[in-house]
Amino acid sequence: MTDFITIFCNDLLQMKPCRKGSDFFENESETIMCFETLLNQRVSIERATAITYAIHDYFGRPFEKSTFQISNISKYPYEGIAFRRAGKSLYNLIRNYFDTRKYSEYKIADLPSGIIGAMASLERYHNRENEFFQPLRDVVLTIDQVESLTPEKVCEISQVKLPAENLRCHLNSIRQILNMKISGLPQQILRKELLKLERVGDETADTLLVYLFRQPAIIVDEYLKRILYRHYLLQKQFASRRSIVDLLGDHIKTWEDAHTLHARINEIGVLYCHATAPDCENCPLGRSVRRE
Ligand code: SF4
Repeated sequence: MTDFITIFCNDLLQMKPCRKGSDFFENESETIMCFETLLNQRVSIERATAITYAIHDYFGRPFEKSTFQISNISKYPYEGIAFRRAGKSLYNLIRNYFDTRKYSEYKIADLPSGIIGAMASLERYHNRENEFFQPLRDVVLTIDQVESLTPEKVCEISQVKLPAENLRCHLNSIRQILNMKISGLPQQILRKELLKLERVGDETADTLLVYLFRQPAIIVDEYLKRILYRHYLLQKQFASRRSIVDLLGDHIKTWEDAHTLHARINEIGVLYCHATAPDCENCPLGRSVRRE
């Protein structure tokens, strides 16, 4: 078993990204990582990213002087792209804003933050190689700017409607996490403190530890369980977090390893290792021993 785990981890850690464009949270500011990770708990990732980008555009205004037109910086109107529900709602938000006006004549500087956030999110997930929105991903909010946000303000800026109570919980936790970032707490204490916050469970705490605090935590999610099980490394697919951490702990020693493990597992989960009918033939892990 140990040899199989070593081979499995080595294969994953040496694997190149399966998709072009930025890797998970690559080139994103700390406040963007923090908002996206927290908002993703109750909102789909595309909408969490759109809200996060809208808020950062509102405070940073990175495109204020840009003369680029929409048709030069995006794939809008995204012909031929099959959006999931959240992506479709962002697309509709943009389409309703343009209404009958010619979108191609708009400059990015003309757009409100909610539309920029929605478009930057769709570009991130459906046109991954587009680097135009990188200045937005570089924006870092100050503690005062984060403190000034209320649920109503977030909805007004992003033009995305969310229940006020949920948003209040998210904002409270985000503020506390950003304060922890400057406190320098050691990992074991940090994890316990993160788990005390609203909307922060094991997976979110470990995601924050890896990406925001750069600690070697193992992010246990459904993709990781499914792939370990299908490769005979777990006896049952619904194993406990503790058993998976024990299984992989000796092989994931740095935050870079933890990042690579999470990023490759999630790419493979999305692209190949579907719940039914996994595409083992084209999967980069296809050579490893696996459960049929
Ligand atoms: S798709 Fe097949 S080869 Fe790839 S991780 Fe899943 S079970 Fe393994």
